Amino acid sequence: MNNVTSAEQILNNIFDIMQQLYDEMRLKSSARGDHLHVFDIFAELGRTLADADRASFWRWDKPTHKLITNAATGIDQIIIDDTTGLVGRALAENRTIVTNDPYNHPDFNSAVDKRTGYVTKSILVMPVSNCRGEVIGAFQVINKLGDAGFDEVDDAKRLSIAAFICGMALESDLFLADSQHDKLTELKNRFGLYSDWQTTYQRIERLALVMCDIDHFKRVNDTYGHNAGDAVLKNVARILRSTVGDVGTAYRWGGEEFVIVLKDVGLDGAVEIAERVRRAAEASSCLFDGREIRVTMSFGCSELDRAHSIDENIKVADERLYRAKEAGRNRVVAE
Ligand code: GH3
Ligand code: MG
Ligand code: MG
Repeated sequence: MNNVTSAEQILNNIFDIMQQLYDEMRLKSSARGDHLHVFDIFAELGRTLADADRASFWRWDKPTHKLITNAATGIDQIIIDDTTGLVGRALAENRTIVTNDPYNHPDFNSAVDKRTGYVTKSILVMPVSNCRGEVIGAFQVINKLGDAGFDEVDDAKRLSIAAFICGMALESDLFLADSQHDKLTELKNRFGLYSDWQTTYQRIERLALVMCDIDHFKRVNDTYGHNAGDAVLKNVARILRSTVGDVGTAYRWGGEEFVIVLKDVGLDGAVEIAERVRRAAEASSCLFDGREIRVTMSFGCSELDRAHSIDENIKVADERLYRAKEAGRNRVVAE
């Protein structure tokens, strides 16, 4: 009889959490543009199902070799090296790890406990994979309530619901991030700009646009080859990133054209930043196969008008860029 009641209770918990998620996805997800609320909700579901004090879902950021909590109950975001801790071990060996005596486990990292005064008594870590079977993250629960500690079979079985859904949401987020980035320059691409326009830029009152284009870029390809052209594009992206900094974001609009969106900046500020990029590009040279390749760039600036679509706004900046080209290139036009 007890079993039936507890199964009912668990089912009710699942239904409550699913309904909360369903409502949040319908009402808020388009404004967030990511699955952070899914991770929050399923960390809480995992905590409930495993009868634990804390739960967290970790993303494995392979390029930076970091493990980052996408959601964690009871604690702020944690970032650690991917070779450390029980999560690092579980991911490296692609297996579930349970310890009910963590301070005597060789892989336990007690840094968080030391920092926060929390006492970890039991841990269960499950690796999470994408649909190709590649490990992309991990689900972790800490401190089984009561004295028993975690059970490798039973608790892992219960947690698999939360771990599976977090894995799907993470894979979806990774695909989305991939589709919004340009592989060559590592800048966000046109789709990334449209997405940011729908989300973050709706909340910012004053925005400015700079449309830029490398001058006579076809000549670079024709003279030095396509790979040299690629190296020049990467160099320009580096200049854009370092010049724009935190004031805005540079996007690869397509080919050798880039768009900069500047936050809380008017037309004068946009011209100033465009001038800085122009001078930096002019002064820079790209070393490829022992040869120094130099390019200049042209710019069209505009203040963003919310009454118009992003494409209409781009068109205004693009027309000014066209005039910069006509006027002899290597210049900034803002009217
Ligand atoms: P303008 O000063 O008028 O802008 O002249 P341009 O030569 O820069 O412009 P055009 O549009 O004639 O040529 C752009 C060239 O950019 C043609 C295309 O092959 C090249 N391109 C576009 N994307 C890439 C890329 O990813 N890599 C390389 N290497 N070249 C690219
Ligand atoms: Mg060009
Ligand atoms: Mg062009």
